Amino acid sequence: MRISIKLKFSLFLAVLLILAVSVLSYFVLRGVERNQQGQIESSLAQHITTVNLRVKQTFYTGARLEPQQFLQQRGRALAAELAGFTGLEVTLYDIQGQQVGTSAQGEPGPDRPDVSTALGYALNNKVAYQSEGGRLFYLAPLQGPDEQMGVVQLQYPLKNAQSFQQTLLNLFLTTGGAVLVFSFIFGYLYFNRAAAAIGRLRQSAEQIRRADYIKAPPLQRKDELGELAEGIFFMSREIESSIAAKDEERRKLQLAVEKLQALEQQQKQYIGNISHEFKTPLTSIKAYVDLLNMYEDDPELLHDAKISIAKETQRLYEMVEKVLQLTALEKYDFESQAGLLEIEETLRDICSRMKGKAERYGLTITLDVKPAHIWIDKESFMHIFINLLDNAIKYNVPQGTIRLHSEVKDQRVYITVRDSGIGIPEESRDLIFEPFYTVNRDRSRASGGTGLGLSLVHNLVEKQGGSITLLDSSGGAEFLLSFPVVTVESFPL
Ligand code: ADP
Repeated sequence: MRISIKLKFSLFLAVLLILAVSVLSYFVLRGVERNQQGQIESSLAQHITTVNLRVKQTFYTGARLEPQQFLQQRGRALAAELAGFTGLEVTLYDIQGQQVGTSAQGEPGPDRPDVSTALGYALNNKVAYQSEGGRLFYLAPLQGPDEQMGVVQLQYPLKNAQSFQQTLLNLFLTTGGAVLVFSFIFGYLYFNRAAAAIGRLRQSAEQIRRADYIKAPPLQRKDELGELAEGIFFMSREIESSIAAKDEERRKLQLAVEKLQALEQQQKQYIGNISHEFKTPLTSIKAYVDLLNMYEDDPELLHDAKISIAKETQRLYEMVEKVLQLTALEKYDFESQAGLLEIEETLRDICSRMKGKAERYGLTITLDVKPAHIWIDKESFMHIFINLLDNAIKYNVPQGTIRLHSEVKDQRVYITVRDSGIGIPEESRDLIFEPFYTVNRDRSRASGGTGLGLSLVHNLVEKQGGSITLLDSSGGAEFLLSFPVVTVESFPL
């Protein structure tokens, strides 16, 4: 069974109060009782002194009698007289323990208790008392001229003292009860507040468990609960930041794994492509060799075989070279030796090298390039533009044109290579820089293409800190390249 903390605390407070009130009332009542007892005893002792004095006085002033006789004769009157003095009921006994006089009204009856034991003590010259039904019977020796002559008994009513004690007890009980009820109610209300605060802390902990982190301390108090609330808030913040860091780590790890997987896939495809591309010319060469073995005297076959084997070998050679270049680009940097390069002069040189091939296809190359310096590996720069111009020639139309243009803007040189050829379909735009990608395999093969040229160009450009994009792909292709320019003054030659 679940008992709420506020009920437990309230009950605990109530039990504590009951204990406190009980202990307090016990000691107070005991104190009052003792005090009253002391007062009664001293007042009775005084009365006894007075009684003895009066008895002695009467004994000496009257006719000379034996103490026994004196008491027999004067006992009654003395008892009545002494009752008048003391205001108490007085009974006198002689030394034999015989009652010789009393101020009590009426005959002795059952309401008269038996005081023989106390009387025995008093007859032996001792003070004795006995309480009986709201009365105290105080018995003391009565002194004669030489020795004890009898016993005087004073009857003291205890009613007043007892009713005072009863009133006090009632007062304690009623105030105790009232205090108990009030303290229970106030305690319950107070602990209710504390329990509500604890409830709020519990809610916050529950919220954190659901990963719903708190933005501020759940309580504003200047006590231990307030400190606990702050602790919970800091804990929440710590958990939130460490979980966020962990999520970020996981996200990065996931990205790295995805990248690795993609890379692995790419590599597999790359190797598959290489094998496939290498196999085609080798199959062709092998077929001619087989045919030559069978018909070695056929001059026509010999002629065809020479041409085809030379073409395929050249293709293979170019392919191997490009594959090696690509691999080297990915793995090593040592082949690239950057230096200051003047682009107008270099592009002019490249164009004049390609001019012969262009003219064979009836194409014209125009150059509109401004002088500018860039920091680049010359070999790579040459490779880039030779490949681009080679493509512009291969994929051009008869009597077509090729145009190289450059301009310098915002510390960068922008070079465009535009041709009037067949263009690149829109769906191939994102794929042309992939290794072994060709738009039309037959056309590419017919022109000696391998699908590696643009991939190599892209890698070389990026390695040299530049960028390349395909601007226009319809009505001829247009590639835009850009490199950061450098001022010659900062590189004294
Ligand atoms: P390839 O050796 O086959 O030319 P590239 O990587 O140089 O391989 O080019 C990839 C493909 O992009 C080519 O097969 C071709 O279809 C297309 N391409 C490249 N340059 C041009 C261009 N100037 N005009 C039209 N198509 C081009």
